Amino acid sequence: MRKILPVLLMAALLMGCSASEPCAHQTVFCMDTVMDLQIWGQERQQAMDAIVEMLQVLESTWSATDENTFLSALNRGEGTPDKAQQDFLDQALALQERTGGAFDPKLGSVIALWGFYDDAYRVPTAQEITEAKTAPKWDLGALVKGYAGSRAVEILEQFDIDRAILNLGGNIQTYGEKENGTPWNIGVQNPTGGDALGALAIHGTMAVVTSGDYQRYFELDGVRYHHILDPKTGMSADSGLSSVTVICADGAVADALSTALFVMGLEEAIALWRQSDDFEAVFLLQDGTIYATEGASLSGCEYEVIRHEN
Ligand code: AMP
Ligand code: MG
Repeated sequence: MRKILPVLLMAALLMGCSASEPCAHQTVFCMDTVMDLQIWGQERQQAMDAIVEMLQVLESTWSATDENTFLSALNRGEGTPDKAQQDFLDQALALQERTGGAFDPKLGSVIALWGFYDDAYRVPTAQEITEAKTAPKWDLGALVKGYAGSRAVEILEQFDIDRAILNLGGNIQTYGEKENGTPWNIGVQNPTGGDALGALAIHGTMAVVTSGDYQRYFELDGVRYHHILDPKTGMSADSGLSSVTVICADGAVADALSTALFVMGLEEAIALWRQSDDFEAVFLLQDGTIYATEGASLSGCEYEVIRHEN
């Protein structure tokens, strides 16, 4: 059985457009997901149009499932990246290194084996996985929506914009301060549906990205196989986590880290957080326990605080 939950972090649900504060509001289907974009400010429509165009260009460049994209050409050994494309590929490789390989931008041939590209789900053999690893192919699905958030911020900065909140298929990108100084309230999705697990208070321009084992999976003989793979084994990561939410000023970093921390598991993820100063995180364990790093302003639920000193 296939299941893809509508990726709906409860962002911005209480912050719609109003007559006193008109905003541009658009929903687009892009990168295989629904994106909900809200922008306030004088040049909101110009910014909206530029962002929608940017999203479409990113999709037609970096999709791993469409054989007409630049990424697919690259995977066939064709095509030469331009400067921006090379920078993005380099950023992906740098994030692979930073995460000790837990984020692996070249897992494409292993992901294909599982049928996540064509919905022909199956459990590959160990030998198939070993063989697939000898022919690595780019897949930037764990990074591109976060990267799109960062690119959207660059666009918003070019226009007269007060603030914006972009839900890029569950990757939330905020921009600017809300008028009365209150924080953006971003709900952390409950894997079982229903109310959010808790709410994150976010100030200013920030990315909030969640990776979870409930976002895309299939079940076979009572076992759930989800879409986040441990690059070491080529199997669905089984780290005891159900979801990881990362809060970071850089959307691409947030996206790569949410995937990587999920693969690493709580202990390794905490170790990486302790040696970093650019992100906060919320961890939901499979048993329902929640942990949050001390800089994450999480409320509305019980959780253990992870501190820098033991
Ligand atoms: P995300 O939802 O951001 O965690 O990204 C998950 C998607 O990234 C999957 O659907 C795969 O296309 C790809 N992916 C799976 N496992 C990994 C991994 N360990 N590193 C990088 N990309 C991955
Ligand atoms: Mg990711």
